[in-house]
Amino acid sequence: MTTPTPIIDRFLAFDDPWSLPESERKDLLTGAVIEAVEHHYKNNPVWRRLCEAKNFKPSDINGYDDLNRIPVISTRAFKGGFDLLSVPPEDIVKTHLSSGTSGNRSRVPRDRITLDRQSRSLWNTIRKFRVSRSGYYGMMAPSPEELGDLAIANYSKTACAMVDNYDFFLKLDGGFRPEKVVERLNSVTERPVDIGGAPMLILALAEYVLKTGQRITSFTEETGVTSGGGFKTPRGEVLDRETYNRILMQAFGVKEENIRDVYSMSELNGAMMECEHHRKHVPPYFYVSIRNPANPEEEVPFGEEGLPVFLDPLAHSYPGFIIADDIVTMETGPFDECSCGRPGATLSTAIRRAEGAEEKGCGRHVAELQDYLSGRS
Ligand SMILES: [Zn+2]
Repeated sequence: MTTPTPIIDRFLAFDDPWSLPESERKDLLTGAVIEAVEHHYKNNPVWRRLCEAKNFKPSDINGYDDLNRIPVISTRAFKGGFDLLSVPPEDIVKTHLSSGTSGNRSRVPRDRITLDRQSRSLWNTIRKFRVSRSGYYGMMAPSPEELGDLAIANYSKTACAMVDNYDFFLKLDGGFRPEKVVERLNSVTERPVDIGGAPMLILALAEYVLKTGQRITSFTEETGVTSGGGFKTPRGEVLDRETYNRILMQAFGVKEENIRDVYSMSELNGAMMECEHHRKHVPPYFYVSIRNPANPEEEVPFGEEGLPVFLDPLAHSYPGFIIADDIVTMETGPFDECSCGRPGATLSTAIRRAEGAEEKGCGRHVAELQDYLSGRS
């Protein structure tokens, strides 16, 4: 007897899932999430215990409108040493770490199935959203080899696999040297020349160019700049996006519509890339819902800010039903069209960490999980 191909793998097999009719995308997403719910309920004692505490059974889901009832796990639980495995430990190929200080890092265990799905999802998304799909890519970041177990390494690898040539300019032993970057970019023969990486390093390059009066002669109209990893300075201040865009336009001569940012988290098997209108597009493989920070079970009215819930059916080795401690706003609904013409949910450019009162929801969530597991509730 052969086992049928999981719905999520059929969904991932489409090169351009955005072009599928709305009803088909909705059915594929709903079916994929239901299959994931059944798998984790059967194989993950921690998540099953959480479902039982919340009086939830997989058979409660009859369609798309019920997906909001699926119990979610705070991204903080991945930092808290919970055993979140839905597969035997020997199946884990890679435990990805989030960036950040040790002790406060997520540990996300991925098996071969999850890793392959993550690569496929990143490939489809980057191909759909990157300004260019060929030419040269200069990354203001360490190489995937140097990043090692950091979750972001797979994104870098996939982005570079798409182009003809690339370099990584942050050497963990030698730091970041803007003069070397300018020299190299000016000698590159492939076109277009795109750059990407951490916002602070991209900004450091722009400021070096402005200060010295040098030009990056290989940049053209098509040049794109893709950042990822957050807009916080090492001193903890948040870099203003408009100022960032303005400095980049001045220094590089790039168009504002080609300055893009990417949002993701180590627990998710995909990335939310900005379009030319600077909205972050949620991949069609994810269900998204924005929750009230004071009561994470409750959805906020459309357009209001809150904590994002993602149901990620690509996750096989752990339950990808996540609530994150970021504050986001949905700009386009899951079945609307963005002004760029691409369908699906989008989040606004401004995303920040939950703080103060907003944070309480996330903390309470982990405390509850501890209670459920110890049988105190
Ligand atoms: Zn868009």
